[in-house]
Amino acid sequence: MQQIGEVKGWCIHVSNIIRMDFNTLRGRLKGMTTGFQEKIVDIEEKANDILERYHPQIIPIDPLEIANAEGIEVISVEFTEEEISGLIDIDGMEKTIFVNHFHHPVRKRFTIAHELGHYFLHLQGIRDGVYVDNSINESFFRKEVYGDTDKQKEREANQFAASLLMPKNWVEAKWKETYDIGEMAKLFNVSSSAMGYRLINLGIIQA
Ligand SMILES: [Zn+2]
Repeated sequence: MQQIGEVKGWCIHVSNIIRMDFNTLRGRLKGMTTGFQEKIVDIEEKANDILERYHPQIIPIDPLEIANAEGIEVISVEFTEEEISGLIDIDGMEKTIFVNHFHHPVRKRFTIAHELGHYFLHLQGIRDGVYVDNSINESFFRKEVYGDTDKQKEREANQFAASLLMPKNWVEAKWKETYDIGEMAKLFNVSSSAMGYRLINLGIIQA
């Protein structure tokens, strides 16, 4: 696809940090294809399968290791114009996750896991596609392209990220040792709010 060359034309490599022009991305987003949707329970299973395949049985989970094992390059980016958390770009054999260089490491980890969610849930079998996230919960950019399925896909990617970084079995086991959300967040290297939501969604604590 022609636009990918244009995107790369805007990237200036500075020791693994690049700058990316937002309007060029806009061109890249035209004509991308939608993937399929999955149920929440399948997402949990899918994340577990991927952890078993690609990750040692330890916490905290390293989403970079999973990306690399899948042949996805992860690049830290100084986005020049807009607030973007991250994006995933599939172009044939080239698979890249771009993550906002200025965000806190804990947030970057979640973003990478979220983009992996788009990859494993929405981009399988697709040779040419891009997801851009201007925040973890919503992407105005993708809304233009995907319409009503957008929020559903964001929820799915977030569910995947939570399942990947906070595997159910580990969370249940560690909760019995700590009974402390802050301590749990440290153990799993996630934000306290992400851990709080995960504990609620797993029915371990009450909202
Ligand atoms: Zn997303």
